Amino acid sequence: MSTFFEQIVAELAAAGIPGPRLETRLLIAAVLKIEPSAVFTDVAPNAAQTAEIRRLLAQRLQHKPLDKILGHREFYKFDFLVDENVLSPRADTEILVEEALRLPLAEKARILDLGTGSGCIIETLLAEKPAMSGVAVDISAESLQVAQKNAEKLGVDKHLQFMQADWFAADFCERIGEKFDMITANPPYIPTADIATLEPEVKNYDPPAALSGGTDGFDSYRRIAVVAPELLKDGAYILLEAGIGQAAEIAALFMRQGLKHLRTLADLSGIDRCVVLQKGK
Ligand code: GLN
Repeated sequence: MSTFFEQIVAELAAAGIPGPRLETRLLIAAVLKIEPSAVFTDVAPNAAQTAEIRRLLAQRLQHKPLDKILGHREFYKFDFLVDENVLSPRADTEILVEEALRLPLAEKARILDLGTGSGCIIETLLAEKPAMSGVAVDISAESLQVAQKNAEKLGVDKHLQFMQADWFAADFCERIGEKFDMITANPPYIPTADIATLEPEVKNYDPPAALSGGTDGFDSYRRIAVVAPELLKDGAYILLEAGIGQAAEIAALFMRQGLKHLRTLADLSGIDRCVVLQKGK
């Protein structure tokens, strides 16, 4: 007879969920409040734990992503609260964070994060560089509440202001009212018609506003390219996450606005994921 562990693996696999063994381990670990590495295939949860694992499993079988079932997710070195109002932080975005941490910024640099979502980018940076501070912008008031809670959790809330704003608004730069040492952004970049083709975990559980980049996927980059020169100090940097195949066009859009393309960094799958530009001195 197969073990409880193997039964869960089989149910996840039958639902077409990739990496069913890892997912099983994470699910059981969360309920048993132990490290995933301590979950062995002969694990025998008690009745209450089994019921709870089954309750969460039922949601996972509906393709709700595990982080949104559990309400939190690891990103870089930290744990972020997530809910249906924020894009789930992705490991791919850690490339951008690592690059930002390598840049020769002033100790007390001011950072602007556009489309902050859970806050994972700017809050990781502030947690790693406590003398820095910044502004986190999002169009969604609900996502700003999640980002605020995460800032408190990471102890960076004193260094961070939150602003609900739409970068397409004509008075956007005026409302921001400041120039920064660095801008970071993981804007929505999926061509709207492609959203229906994404995996259910993404298309049904990440907020549409965090995904949809307009007809060709570049709407937000075009707009950010126009406002960025006004929001950057001379010599300041902008780091943008790119969708698959978008990096060269993104670099070109910003170069047309006078920024210098420093480099493009690939993610762990070899996809050009982070475009780094600088405003001339
Ligand atoms: N990285 C997300 C995905 O591939 C998209 C996030 C975004 O549009 N910025 O599904």
